Amino acid sequence: MNYAQPSDTYFDQRRKKITKTKTLSAKDLETRTWKLASKINVKPSKVVIKKLKDRWGSSTKHGVINLNSALLEAPLKVIDYVVLHELCHIKIREHSYRFWSLLRKFMPDYQRQKKWLELHGKMIL
Ligand SMILES: [Zn+2]
Repeated sequence: MNYAQPSDTYFDQRRKKITKTKTLSAKDLETRTWKLASKINVKPSKVVIKKLKDRWGSSTKHGVINLNSALLEAPLKVIDYVVLHELCHIKIREHSYRFWSLLRKFMPDYQRQKKWLELHGKMIL
């Protein structure tokens, strides 16, 4: 018996529990993203919410922000972290020291949300 990895069934059960409480609708997430963008003064060309396979979001060089629809089931602070993360990429593309300090300016406790995704992300992905 391998105790290191919880079984798939374990995650399926957790997933069912979590999906009962959607934090936001896709439309709400889109509106929220535009609001956060104007708050931090960046202008995405487009905001797309869709099922993504292996990432929470992305920011293209053309300013398109893609957000994983699975995020809709995450806590609001975690959602905001991913949104702010991708929006900051419009200004700074790489994960440099400058990038993380910019993000910290808008969300001083961003590391807590990052940790949440590492610990619980699998349950909603
Ligand atoms: Zn990134």
